[in-house]
Amino acid sequence: MTGSAHDGTHDPKLRSWVASANEPGSDFPVQNLPFGSFRRRGRDETLRCGVAIGDRILDIGAALAAGAFPPQAERAAAAAAGPVLNALMELGPGAWSLLRAAFSHALREGSPHERELEAALVPMAAAELALPMDVGDYTDFYASIYHATAVGALLRPDEPLLPNYKWLPVAYHGRASTVVISGSGVRRPVGQTMPSGAQTPFVGPSKRLDYELEVGIVVGVPNALGDRVAIEGAERHLFGLCLLNDWSARDVQGWEYRPLGPFLAKNFATTISPWIVTMEALEPYRAGWQRNGDDPQPLPYLDCADLRTRGAIDLQLEVRLETAAMRAAGQAPVQLSRSNFRDCYWTVSQMLAHHTVNGCALRSGDLFGSGTQSGPAPEEAGSLLELTQAGRRPLVLPNGERRAFLEDGDRVMLRGWCEKRGAARIGFGEASGTILPARA
Ligand code: MN
Repeated sequence: MTGSAHDGTHDPKLRSWVASANEPGSDFPVQNLPFGSFRRRGRDETLRCGVAIGDRILDIGAALAAGAFPPQAERAAAAAAGPVLNALMELGPGAWSLLRAAFSHALREGSPHERELEAALVPMAAAELALPMDVGDYTDFYASIYHATAVGALLRPDEPLLPNYKWLPVAYHGRASTVVISGSGVRRPVGQTMPSGAQTPFVGPSKRLDYELEVGIVVGVPNALGDRVAIEGAERHLFGLCLLNDWSARDVQGWEYRPLGPFLAKNFATTISPWIVTMEALEPYRAGWQRNGDDPQPLPYLDCADLRTRGAIDLQLEVRLETAAMRAAGQAPVQLSRSNFRDCYWTVSQMLAHHTVNGCALRSGDLFGSGTQSGPAPEEAGSLLELTQAGRRPLVLPNGERRAFLEDGDRVMLRGWCEKRGAARIGFGEASGTILPARA
């Protein structure tokens, strides 16, 4: 994979001629260049892919028509000019890297393309964002040991962590048809629950609706049915990451999940952030991964040398909540928790190698959820289930409201960013969703 030393696209000194991209704290400086799908709001336009730069979106098709790309990047640009990114994803890391270098050169200060590209920029505030890829399949992992242990302790105090946990990345198959883009309303699901002490189940709106702070992992290069992806090259199959909220109805989950795992408690909505940050953009934020203490080292098919030097990703995560009352009073959202993807028990390469060890075919645009990213400290928990001890200790918000689980009108906002000395800060934008009342 192309690294920062090779093409200079990560150089923290690079500046863009798009002035907003140079502002401190911008999620989308010229070192980031994430991909999404958009159209201008209120117009009769088809969706098309673009690259985020500052508070603007560069229309890839318009940039291609303007002749902004060198010949070696034109094929990748053409593949990215449609409404979704799947065709670009299939081309693989060589093409992704050429396209990234072309955007970097075209958008940096001093580019000869500034004048013709001005016309290919759309203000993000005037755009409607859409799912950036056709998601064929969605798999949700459970890869934070802190989350698994905390939730396990609530469900099974005598055996919080099941025996398989430290040997394989546990997951279930989710529902691709209900993956929605940030900003979409999330309807409170109706389902079957068994109230404690009751003899027959209750059917009605979930009373214990929760969020899960997760990282979305997007597959780029497919593998054929029957082929397994070796862990050494596994990341060459991955296009990039986004934020993901795996909305969960805990009361439905608690009743339905035995013995086959989550079903309707999880598949009514999964919100993702609109911008896919490429694996290459994350290069400066790779971090060492380790198994310490008495934990078993990974089995050979889940292990390789560079896991220890660069298997993890230093991605800071945050959840904020805005209730309807806060919104009406003009109060700022309140932070519920923060954590870091670096603390994940399993790496993205291990998830991919494990998912394909049986020959399972992955396709371009397939989506993994990382599992709820909770950190080692209790206040770093990535769900209300953990933060409120299954509702027993409701949170008290600054305006005096209490929350055990989500209420109608609550808006949950996930944010993510990478920041350290010697590298440009890059952000993921936001994955937000507002709870709508259940249908009558
Ligand atoms: Mn989940």
